[in-house]
Amino acid sequence: MESKGNKMKPFEKCPVCGGELECKQVEKLLRGGGNTVSMKVTAEVCFHCGEKLYAEDVVKSFEEIRGKLRKQEFSHFKPLGQSFTVEETWPNKAIQPTA
Ligand SMILES: [Zn+2]
Repeated sequence: MESKGNKMKPFEKCPVCGGELECKQVEKLLRGGGNTVSMKVTAEVCFHCGEKLYAEDVVKSFEEIRGKLRKQEFSHFKPLGQSFTVEETWPNKAIQPTA
């Protein structure tokens, strides 16, 4: 199944396995600059392999969000819990901080 483009819909079939796609809301995590943002995103999800496909403007928004996180710029974000890492002094040396 090699049919690239020239349709209005960005994805007809799963580009990985050729399976049917279903439009649904999925959870997405984006990371940058030691921060994480979680959100629900509308995506095309493959019934067969679970591959998630995002519209072009959604992918652009992901890039924008990652950029904001890297710059520690938090406008348009709201706090949702808090994330932590362990301190260097944690007694079990098998456990180390992530940053
Ligand atoms: Zn698939």
